[in-house]
Amino acid sequence: MVTEYVRMSEDEIDQEAIRRAGKILREGGLVAFPTETVYGLGGDALQPESSRRIYAAKGRPSDNPLIVHICRLSDLPAIVDEIPPQAQALAERFWPGPLTMIFHRSSLVPTETTGGLDTVAVRFPSNRIAMALIDAAGGYVAAPSANRSGRPSPTLARHCREDLDGRVEMIIDGGQVGIGLESTIIDLTGDEPTILRPGFITRPMLEQVLGEVQVDSTIFTADSHQAPKAPGMKYRHYAPRGELVICEGNRDDVISYINREAAARGLLGHRTGVICTDETRGAYRADVVRSTGSREDELAAARELFRILRDMDSEGVEFIYSESFEEGALGQAVMNRLMKAAGHRVADVSGPRT
Ligand code: AMP
Ligand code: MG
Repeated sequence: MVTEYVRMSEDEIDQEAIRRAGKILREGGLVAFPTETVYGLGGDALQPESSRRIYAAKGRPSDNPLIVHICRLSDLPAIVDEIPPQAQALAERFWPGPLTMIFHRSSLVPTETTGGLDTVAVRFPSNRIAMALIDAAGGYVAAPSANRSGRPSPTLARHCREDLDGRVEMIIDGGQVGIGLESTIIDLTGDEPTILRPGFITRPMLEQVLGEVQVDSTIFTADSHQAPKAPGMKYRHYAPRGELVICEGNRDDVISYINREAAARGLLGHRTGVICTDETRGAYRADVVRSTGSREDELAAARELFRILRDMDSEGVEFIYSESFEEGALGQAVMNRLMKAAGHRVADVSGPRT
């Protein structure tokens, strides 16, 4: 299959291309498109065959459900069993936006789309290209992140090209995404609202609307005996090809540890990389040193992380050392992705405390 590339911006939507993209989706084809979180790999959510094609194109295990994207609140009732008052309140506050809610599904949604579950994940994105495409497709677009399974999520159209060229009918290039991490997922089907994946919409923001919100305990643990409630969270994810270690400790200890390790690897002929911040980048000695931006900018690490992980791959880096990014409103969400990318390898490098 030859993949068609089209370029547009939210301010200048190419209506003709959107019509063609909508037709591709209605006929069972696949289109990668920008959203405010990461690029999505879209197929018609109501056609079982489209969902099968998404799994095949991504190389994704078929028990890992897809998120259904809508572009009008009035389209929600048809695909869910009921809308609890909590969901209504969250929708009013955060939709359109980077929040996914889990509902009991209606029979309109094929089990292929929900990975065999009786629940369905739904999101109403705010990116105007995404909204136009969903509308043109008939209202319901299943869209996981547009990467091959296991790879870092795409934040640029060229990332979609790297992973999906020849596997999808069209890729819409809308430039770099704004947030850079996938949506927050909240489950509203249990006794208490529970965050299954941290994201731009944080726990305190959700608690302002709902009161107390739980966090699924598997979000920060290594894959173990406990199954995460979001099936996708159990898989190896976001991983660069090189071996990534997160280095925790005070700033000077982290810098000297990383420089020592990188020098040792370098002597053995390996290519090394460092993920750091503007405040420290000048202090590192490695083949590839990439800053996520300033620590003052709370959104920078989220926006740049996946791109930097992919850059490490294209630079052929074999050993990657990353600073930790726990602070700030998005610290949890960034560390959740970074820990998965690192396979939970953390080096505590604090020197002896005196
Ligand atoms: P992605 O589409 O790549 O952002 O991944 C979608 C995430 O949503 C995966 O981690 C899925 O396991 C999760 N998800 C989708 N549908 C459900 C559902 N019905 N219940 C729980 N988690 C879900
Ligand atoms: Mg994904």
